[in-house]
Amino acid sequence: MVYVCDSCRFVFERTGETDACPDCGKPDIREASEAERDEYRKGRADFGKGGHGGAKG
Ligand SMILES: [Zn+2]
Repeated sequence: MVYVCDSCRFVFERTGETDACPDCGKPDIREASEAERDEYRKGRADFGKGGHGGAKG
């Protein structure tokens, strides 16, 4: 499940339950909306690039 922190807007994924933001440590977290989840996955796509050359810019 993907969560978002209302305190610092940090978005993170957890397979189980979680009760605090791993970034700021506050318990102000909630389940991410569909749009937030989509944005989160887009952001993660930037990680681990490599191998095949892609278009730049
Ligand atoms: Zn936070």
